[in-house]
Amino acid sequence: MKTKVLAGMALTFCLALCGCGGGGQEPQDNQDSVHVHNYRETVIEPAHGVQGCVLHTCDCGSSYSDNYLGASGEALPTNRSYTFLMIGNSYTYVNDLWSMFNRVIQDEGYLDAMIDHVTEGGYDLIRFSNPTDPFGSIVEDRLNSHQYDFIFYQDQSLFPATSPDLFITGAKRMHDRIQKTGTRDVLYMTWGRKPTSPDLAANNLTYEQHAQKVMAAYEAVGEKEGIPVSRVGAAFYLVNASHPEIELYNADMTHPSAAGSYLAALCHFATVFGRSPVGCTFYPLSITEEQAGILQQAAHDAVFGDSLVKEEYRAEYKALVDG
Ligand SMILES: [Zn+2]
Repeated sequence: MKTKVLAGMALTFCLALCGCGGGGQEPQDNQDSVHVHNYRETVIEPAHGVQGCVLHTCDCGSSYSDNYLGASGEALPTNRSYTFLMIGNSYTYVNDLWSMFNRVIQDEGYLDAMIDHVTEGGYDLIRFSNPTDPFGSIVEDRLNSHQYDFIFYQDQSLFPATSPDLFITGAKRMHDRIQKTGTRDVLYMTWGRKPTSPDLAANNLTYEQHAQKVMAAYEAVGEKEGIPVSRVGAAFYLVNASHPEIELYNADMTHPSAAGSYLAALCHFATVFGRSPVGCTFYPLSITEEQAGILQQAAHDAVFGDSLVKEEYRAEYKALVDG
């Protein structure tokens, strides 16, 4: 979800009927008073309290906005409560990610969100998307009985690297099922194990390979299926590289610390609402204000900046998704 710099001007014809007010000031000619809007496009970057969009303004005073950043692509007003469903495993339920996400949402001026979750340790999207599975049937019930604004889902944390076919199939099935409800879905990109984790060698992976493969897998499916991706894994990748003193993992070197879950909540916020989380005044007690600022900037950069996936991994996963 990166912003594009738009050049050039859009011309829109506006008959005097439209009431845009410009007609009276136009030079008189043989075609009555026909004002031609001459819109200039300005990219409004996402900032604290500002949803990114493209603003079109004409000298006559007429203006409109479109191309809103955010998972829905629409302006999301603050004066309402949004509803969410989170589907996932311990990467979602450790530290009650939904609670931290709601704290960020409210700190940013939105009303208290209603956030449901269906979670089970070690679970994957193949099972969550299967209505005959014990937890897949709970997902099915929620989808049949509630209308959510947004639904997040994530897969087992190794699958994108070790069993990409399972990841791709599970994500597509979940997407297809949610599409039938008319709800916007968001892929929750997980992250590579901590660089010192013994899990990596046990799965014939380096940290770089695990982190890159997870990012590449989520982005490839997101691009192919048109699903927004909350690039939490990319934010982890940035912070691990530039601020290794901020501990994003708990003692098992896979699950998130409070700082890691906070980073996920910030990415989710930026992805859904198209606003920068930089400046959020809520942060967990385990980190300093300065560290909170570093995590907020990393979330901003991961969500709104260029992809961090290297070309070899992008090509590998594009082929898998297209195949
Ligand atoms: Zn005009």
